[in-house]
Amino acid sequence: MRYSRFFGRTTMTVPHDADSVNARLLTQGGFVDKMAAGIYNYLPMGKRVLDKIIQIIREEMNAVDGQEISMPALHPIELWQQTGRDKTADAILYRTKGAGGKDFVFAPSHEEAVTPLAKKYIQSYKDLPLSAYQFQTKFRNEPRAKSGVLRGREFGMKDMYSFHVSDEDLDQYYERVKQAYLNVYERCGVKAYVVEASGGIFSDKISHEFSVVTPAGEDTILVCKKCNIAQNIEIAEGKIHNPHDPEEKELKMVEVKMERGPSIDENAKAHKIEPSKILKSVVYKLQNGGLLGVCIRGDLQVNEHKLSKFLGQEVHPASKEDLEAIGLVPGFISPVGLPKVKGGLKHAAEVYDTHEKGVKEVHRSKESLHFIADNSIKTVKNFVTGANKKNMDLINVNLGTDFTIDDFADLVSIKAGFACSKCGSKLEETKAIEAGNIFKLGTKYSEAFDVNFTDEKGQRKLAIMGCYGIGTTRLVGTIVEASNDEKGIIWPKSVAPFQVHLIALGAEKDPEVKKSAEDIYEVLNHACVEVLYDDRDESAGKKFNDADLIGIPLRIVVSSRTLKEKNVEWKLRTEAEGKLVKYEMAPKEIIEWVYGDCDCGDDDCK
Ligand code: ATP
Ligand code: MG
Repeated sequence: MRYSRFFGRTTMTVPHDADSVNARLLTQGGFVDKMAAGIYNYLPMGKRVLDKIIQIIREEMNAVDGQEISMPALHPIELWQQTGRDKTADAILYRTKGAGGKDFVFAPSHEEAVTPLAKKYIQSYKDLPLSAYQFQTKFRNEPRAKSGVLRGREFGMKDMYSFHVSDEDLDQYYERVKQAYLNVYERCGVKAYVVEASGGIFSDKISHEFSVVTPAGEDTILVCKKCNIAQNIEIAEGKIHNPHDPEEKELKMVEVKMERGPSIDENAKAHKIEPSKILKSVVYKLQNGGLLGVCIRGDLQVNEHKLSKFLGQEVHPASKEDLEAIGLVPGFISPVGLPKVKGGLKHAAEVYDTHEKGVKEVHRSKESLHFIADNSIKTVKNFVTGANKKNMDLINVNLGTDFTIDDFADLVSIKAGFACSKCGSKLEETKAIEAGNIFKLGTKYSEAFDVNFTDEKGQRKLAIMGCYGIGTTRLVGTIVEASNDEKGIIWPKSVAPFQVHLIALGAEKDPEVKKSAEDIYEVLNHACVEVLYDDRDESAGKKFNDADLIGIPLRIVVSSRTLKEKNVEWKLRTEAEGKLVKYEMAPKEIIEWVYGDCDCGDDDCK
């Protein structure tokens, strides 16, 4: 392709509304053009990258027996009413009225299309498993379209849906797709971690996200570089080290007067101890208005997401007024010597649901505040804690001797610097982009659309479903965020818009330069090498800057200077310096470089 004829040029002007590296470089490089917030045109340069990504995904989905289909983007509202998502997804739905006043939605996802479609073809267990995917434009009224093509209102997605006879069959398939996803990211030149996602509070839904580490990411993950695993910070687990001797002799509990501020730091300073020697008590308000105390080691924080999950309900920290209403003294609360509340405790932990115990409702004493605890308090001896009276503390407080706890759980917020629960190495906190998401849907949608099959025994059963999404346009932006420098984009070879950027310098003055460059261009085209040929009458500086901005992996320069010694200049975008290659040998070497690592299996390719 001759750059002089190319639709979509580079610009050195930084777009005024570019809020991210990908928005700036993709726009300046002539890959995309923003029509409105979260709505982009893809110019030929951008379309080429997108198509390459799509082709990689297509190959990997075909390899796990996915069959490509294409479903409509415009859905009758009735389908969405059938799953209730007309209401639950209302905030992001674009709606429109058709002829005769019929209501439609622009699909943000395709469970409502694929499930009734599959129902028509699934009758018996012999029709399963079935896996179908498509590349589709999705519409989501995102409250804030941002970060260039990373969060659009109209965007590209590959979505695949699978149907199975059993959970076990889904489990096996799910693992195959997980690996196929990792293959996709690797082939696209980015490193993705599989991260267990935190489903909603009430959902035990299993899902995994694929996170690509870059500062532009919206998600925060904790990475163990040694184990090569990452965790969502909301639900991360880690090894909690006890800095004290767990075999320490238990001493007798004593009440002491201590004038101090309410914080853990002030407490530790006043008693001249480490914060980890303090038994911290945090009080939360339950949905029914009741209160619940949570004990944790003083140097650790309660993770409210884990707590909510454990309790099966959303909880919030209790206010000062809530605490004082039942006679608690903020800063001096502990499970030892709690005040009894006259006439019973109105604000008590009356009911909570411990998933781990499988108990739906646990009724508690209404006499005083009820406590649960994080596992971290089990191994520390001789704690210091409040005495439930102003400026009075207890020292040498021991679990089992001075107070008891019925329910323990992992309730700690894990942060950077904590130890990996597998290998003990330090966890690192980093920002990441969610580049894909896979879910075990179970029977949620097959139930809504009554997708039944007859099993081997002749019984009717609901099909078990999985769904698997990759944002194709988001992946374009993700690659740019992960692979760039101050001059521009650095495309991995597999998804680069062109493989070779051929530059002729001074061709308008030197016919030999023109002829030599044209000859190379022709030979490469003949060999099906994708070449962007900068044949414009522009300065060397402009052409080099454009090449760096666009980011094609191999740059070949033909000029009077290089031809003097019968050479061309060869420079990889990933390297600072170029080298000289004999003009005669250049086409052959370029072709070898382009196809050298091709694994298509076609002998003619090499
Ligand atoms: P997010 O958590 O980022 O909002 P999601 O969990 O709602 O995304 P899914 O419905 O699972 O996303 O969609 C599958 C994939 O589609 C995501 O992993 C992401 O790569 C991509 N995607 C989702 N929303 C957008 C968007 N607004 N713009 C571009 N890509 C998106
Ligand atoms: Mg998500």
